[in-house]
Amino acid sequence: MSTAFYRLLPNIELKQDIIGEDAVELKKICPLNVYDIEESGKAFVKNARNCTTCRECIRNPKFKENIEIQKIKDHYECKETYLKIIFFFLLTNIII
Ligand code: SF4
Repeated sequence: MSTAFYRLLPNIELKQDIIGEDAVELKKICPLNVYDIEESGKAFVKNARNCTTCRECIRNPKFKENIEIQKIKDHYECKETYLKIIFFFLLTNIII
């Protein structure tokens, strides 16, 4: 009835502080808004779950050594679960 896919959750670590203009640049590079900037001007990982591991952020030589992108080997995310819940919710509301 529905498609499903599984993926390993990404884990992103900033090994060194990325601040100021570099933080702004890093935030702009990521198409999925994984990074954000603290009031102090320091970049941080806001939405690691959004990451598709496209590696765009580490193509830039400036960030290549400062960012580590890995996948958590024992943590899977299943998209089918959400579809099942939505389907179940709709079905029960239609029947009741
Ligand atoms: S790998 Fe791609 S999606 Fe993930 S943080 Fe870097 S630019 Fe964003």
